[in-house]
Amino acid sequence: MEHREVVVIGAGPSGAVAAALLKRQGHDVLMLERQQFPRFSIGESLLAHCLEFVEEAGMMPAVQAAGFQVKNGAAFARGDEYAYFDFRDKFTPGPGTTFQVQRAHFDKVLADDAERQGVEVRYLQEVTAANFEGDSPLLDVRGADGSTYQVQSQFVLDASGYGRVLARLLDLERPSSMPPRKAIFTHIEDRIDDAGFDREKILISVHPEQPGIWYWLIPFSNGRCSFGVVGGQDLFGGPDQDLMATLRAMADAAPNLKRVLKNAVWDTPANTIGGYSASVTRLYGPGYALLGNAAEFLDPVFSSGVTIALRSSKLATDALHRQLSGEPVDWQTDFADPLMLGVETFRAYVQGWYSGEFQDVVFYQNAQPEIRRMISSILAGYAWDTSNPFVANPQRRLRMLSELCRGVQTQAEPA
Ligand code: FAD
Repeated sequence: MEHREVVVIGAGPSGAVAAALLKRQGHDVLMLERQQFPRFSIGESLLAHCLEFVEEAGMMPAVQAAGFQVKNGAAFARGDEYAYFDFRDKFTPGPGTTFQVQRAHFDKVLADDAERQGVEVRYLQEVTAANFEGDSPLLDVRGADGSTYQVQSQFVLDASGYGRVLARLLDLERPSSMPPRKAIFTHIEDRIDDAGFDREKILISVHPEQPGIWYWLIPFSNGRCSFGVVGGQDLFGGPDQDLMATLRAMADAAPNLKRVLKNAVWDTPANTIGGYSASVTRLYGPGYALLGNAAEFLDPVFSSGVTIALRSSKLATDALHRQLSGEPVDWQTDFADPLMLGVETFRAYVQGWYSGEFQDVVFYQNAQPEIRRMISSILAGYAWDTSNPFVANPQRRLRMLSELCRGVQTQAEPA
């Protein structure tokens, strides 16, 4: 049987960054990945905060060299309304720009860089069983040729994303607080010639009649865009639906998108993903911790997934390094509680988006600059900065602000 110090399950962003952070502290790390890279993944618009972890993992030169589209903020459209937040103008210190990335390429850049730094990466290796009952965790792995082997280690970091390996195997699954939703998406050659279109921002558009339905348009650096629509599970028809026809009809329903995408070449089959919001009963246990989407995933609307994933990698590897060095670690106060602080901030704003409260705040044009900077910070991923009042007390602040926006708008309307 093979013996390693740490095994990471999954080579997506949370796995690759966690593996590199540990390796840089002198630990032996084996990363097992079920697929061959490059492979497609959804989640293409990053937030500025996540680059702090990419930097700490020593991966910035590789990411910068990859030529991804620079992103400096988020734009929002609803009917004739348009609003944007510039991440460089924000309350919390830290990077104010980031990237919009084709994830097949981005994830390979990170995994290759982890390998360059000395992490052993094995592709086409699927973790099929886990046993945490003995002194050391034991994983069963199925290789590319179908043969199986076991790996014993001192600790397992589960970064398996939607594979949710330990949540499934250890019965940790918990329904999400978010209602089930579904996305249909594709990549297009966008041919956008609208001078007002800002390629350095994600564009989130709201359906003109149904505020619970929204679209993303994420420009890449190669003249292409990721385009998708999100709505309730039942909104888009049954399993036989023509995904591309549905997506194009949805795009036509929003006048701003119809205009911007008038020359687009729809050259890639549409795909769909649903029921992606998920949670777990616990984020750690004896011999393991759950990272990124293997633990909790809220909702795509604010592009928070990779940022939460990388923050979890940083918190878990700091705690694990101390534990492996013989220091006492309280995984609840050192890992789970601090991670959930930011997750709960995002949860409040995601819920506020779907209730309409946060949409009103986003489109309110007369907010004080300082308040806009606080909101910009959260949209840039700085959801753990408790000196920001909109982080420290998200529900109450959001309600107050949306009442203010709605009140002012109502007063401004002619009697
Ligand atoms: P992943 O990137 O999913 O990586 C997990 C890896 O584990 C995979 O490579 C998988 O093959 C491997 N694996 C799985 N099972 C096993 C196994 N048994 N053995 C070995 N390996 C295994 N986030 C953003 O930041 N920005 C966005 O714009 C954004 N948009 C989104 C849109 C939609 C519609 C959805 C659903 C999500 C979106 N997200 C976005 C979220 C984003 O996709 C995830 O948060 C992010 O990919 C999580 O990274 P991860 O490293 O945890 O997992």
